[in-house]
Amino acid sequence: KEKDSMKGNSAKVTRTGIEVSKAKDFGLWFQEVITKAELIDYYDIRGCYVLRPRSFAIWDAIKDMLDKRIKGLGVENCYFPLFVSSDRLKKEQNHVEGFEAEVAWVTKSGKKELNDPIAVRPTSETIMYPAFSKWIRSFRDLPLKINQWSNVVRWEMTHCTPFIRSREFLWQEGHSAFATREEAAAEVLDILDIYKSVYEDLLAVPVIRGTKTESEKFAGALYTTTVEGFVPATGRAIQGATSHCLGQNFAEMFDIKYENDERETKHVWQNSWGLTTRTIGVMIMVHSDDRGLVIPPRVAPQEAVVVPIFKKGHEAVVIEEAEKLGKELKAAGYKVKVDARTDKTPGWKYNEHELRGVCTRLELGPRDIENAKVLCVRRDTGQKIELNRATAVADLRKILEEIQESLLARAREELYSKIQRVANWEEFMSALNSKNLALCPWCQNASCEENVKSRSKKESENSEFNVQAADGEGESLSGTAKSLCIPFSAELDALGTSGPSLNAEKCFACDEFAEVLVLFGRSY
Ligand code: AMP
Repeated sequence: KEKDSMKGNSAKVTRTGIEVSKAKDFGLWFQEVITKAELIDYYDIRGCYVLRPRSFAIWDAIKDMLDKRIKGLGVENCYFPLFVSSDRLKKEQNHVEGFEAEVAWVTKSGKKELNDPIAVRPTSETIMYPAFSKWIRSFRDLPLKINQWSNVVRWEMTHCTPFIRSREFLWQEGHSAFATREEAAAEVLDILDIYKSVYEDLLAVPVIRGTKTESEKFAGALYTTTVEGFVPATGRAIQGATSHCLGQNFAEMFDIKYENDERETKHVWQNSWGLTTRTIGVMIMVHSDDRGLVIPPRVAPQEAVVVPIFKKGHEAVVIEEAEKLGKELKAAGYKVKVDARTDKTPGWKYNEHELRGVCTRLELGPRDIENAKVLCVRRDTGQKIELNRATAVADLRKILEEIQESLLARAREELYSKIQRVANWEEFMSALNSKNLALCPWCQNASCEENVKSRSKKESENSEFNVQAADGEGESLSGTAKSLCIPFSAELDALGTSGPSLNAEKCFACDEFAEVLVLFGRSY
């Protein structure tokens, strides 16, 4: 499909609108939206994609906010090399086992085989921590908090999807070292809250915070916390971003020690945390529709477009007024363009701006000018709002804020309505098959979790939930359900539910007693 659609794009150059409905064929719809709205271009290496200026502008907005927030916590930016020697990579056993299958290796330079192949970073713990060992000597060197904005490579074999799962992606990775477990634990949650804020306050995508189960935690971590997103159209969850407490595992392997004020030598406590370009994909999947992109104003490359409505004989004056409005909006700080093209009809322009996710359209015709009005059309709802020309510039700010808020409110309502509290296996499968997530009383046994995966996979064979990889290569998306997180109690409160009391409720999937409520679901 991926290759076909690339061919298709060049063959039908005039067919610019979205031709597939989100409800009918989600995969194809997503491809159409991201290519026709000029966010992504495909590339001849599977799992690698071109981020065009329209998507990079969204990444820039995310970076700006996140960079400020982490610097507010005292984090400093730096840059470490892309390559890692195999000795270093293999130093932490669990870590290397977790990443082994996804590491890309450089084995040749020119025609010569390298004696010691070097790996391309899948993440930078093993690249950075030898330096930590040199930099940290005493308690005065702590805490150490650094971050880098970079690319990483993970040779994914499952279903690659632009933004969501690519083989090379952009991210930030934060790494910190503390004297105590308490300080490390506090930072894990501070970062997770910032990630939640990126999703909710910027991208208007609601997320659930929680802890990963033992089998789903980051390779080498003590524990992993996560913000989990959800795509209602497919019923699939997606791991939004993760904040790990690494404990002292890496400190022991890389000999990262400090002397405390009693002159005792101790290993540091470490965290690592990352958020990637996946964020953009989740935002598109949640908000966009059959007309194309819907982008929340705070990250939108363009908040408004002014479209002059021509009438024979009035062109010059309408263009002049449109330009004047555009200038005022720009001066007031809006991201705005005036679309005064004379070779396109207003209808054609509307479609194009809707496809590209411009948040509002301001229409200005001879009659509006006469009546000192401007017609504002919201991209998210299509609602038309008549503004007074005199107050239009100030009013637009309120409208954009309303768009931002209502996108989040709508998505949150939908998410909450799709989380189903279940008690047993039948209810579990029925929740999944209704494209819901399942909140399950669970025993916390790893073998039970494995069993849930294989059983749900088996019971989903031949169902619509098995999706072939776009290019027919690699594993497809399957109907397998896995644990997403053990939601924090604040999240359970927000959902109006609480955990099982001990020895009171049985695990939904086996005969043991339940210990916690876990969110399970099909996922990306
Ligand atoms: P990790 O370091 O494995 O915890 O990854 C940090 C975050 O990166 C995860 O929480 C995901 O949201 C995201 N992520 C993982 N793999 C990919 C990928 N192949 N493409 C894009 N984002 C990814």
